[in-house]
Amino acid sequence: MTRLVALIGKPLKRRHSQIMHESAFDACGIDARYVLREIEAEEVEGVVADARRDGWLGLGVTAPYKQVAARLLDEVEGPARAIGAVNNVVRTDDGRLIGFNTDAPGFRAGVERAMGRTLAGTDVVVAGAGGAAHAVVYACLTAGAARVTVGNRSRDAAAALLARFVGIGEGERMATGLDDAFVLAAREADLAVNATTVGMVDPGMTLPVDELRPTATVFDLVYVPAETPLLAAARDRGLRAANGSEMLIAQAAAAFERWTGVGGMEDVMRTAVAPLLADSTVTA
Ligand code: NAP
Repeated sequence: MTRLVALIGKPLKRRHSQIMHESAFDACGIDARYVLREIEAEEVEGVVADARRDGWLGLGVTAPYKQVAARLLDEVEGPARAIGAVNNVVRTDDGRLIGFNTDAPGFRAGVERAMGRTLAGTDVVVAGAGGAAHAVVYACLTAGAARVTVGNRSRDAAAALLARFVGIGEGERMATGLDDAFVLAAREADLAVNATTVGMVDPGMTLPVDELRPTATVFDLVYVPAETPLLAAARDRGLRAANGSEMLIAQAAAAFERWTGVGGMEDVMRTAVAPLLADSTVTA
């Protein structure tokens, strides 16, 4: 019997996840499909029940259901609870549904590859305080970052994000607006992260690239388009710079391992999704 993983969300405009997971199922000879279910809020409960009853491998969960789905599960793992978002669900053999979060480990893998070092001891500035920024800051704090500054257009949202993570990690932390205090912090940073939708949805950039140290790395979570104005400016300055594609691949591989027990599918997924990542006609 063909097993299923369904990605639930609305809208579902992108096929990156489907391409990565189906290529990995095929490469492993696993009889399973990754299907897209663009559904309304009132349908979420029914799809979760289908996953439990019909022996699916699990679910992928994206906006706007990352919190709603969590309330319908048998268990939500600690990191997903701390971050406040479930982006994947695995069904155990006895039919229990367990929610987890792969954005944080995906970010860590992607950014450590981009930096060529671990996050331990780093000074990080993060622009944004939305869902992705929560996973980024959690990853930095749990990986031993020495200092994390969160700058957001609404400073209150940055402060609320940090309030969730009291007691997690030992690094210093500070909330700012996207203002002078953020620029001051950026001057000292080893790593500058864009975790906003700027560069994908709105034009411009959130990080003061000209103020960064020559040794700093710029990491943009955006992967559509592949080259944002932020990354272009960072590369012009000769800084290390990477978009969110390696995070996307690493978080998918982590979920795949939970569903199937097969790890190490990053290369298969990277090859499969490369044409879509390079396709400049794919827009946000
Ligand atoms: P979200 O929850 O909607 O948060 C959006 C964030 O962007 C908020 O902090 C918001 O600030 C800020 N923002 C929006 N427009 C802005 C503007 N014009 N100027 C300054 N800040 C602005 O979105 P999300 O889910 O966190 O996603 C953020 C980005 O990460 C998206 O581009 C998404 O595609 C990407 N992402 C990538 C991966 C990956 O695997 N590479 C994974 C997850 C997400 P306010 O609070 O002030 O509104």
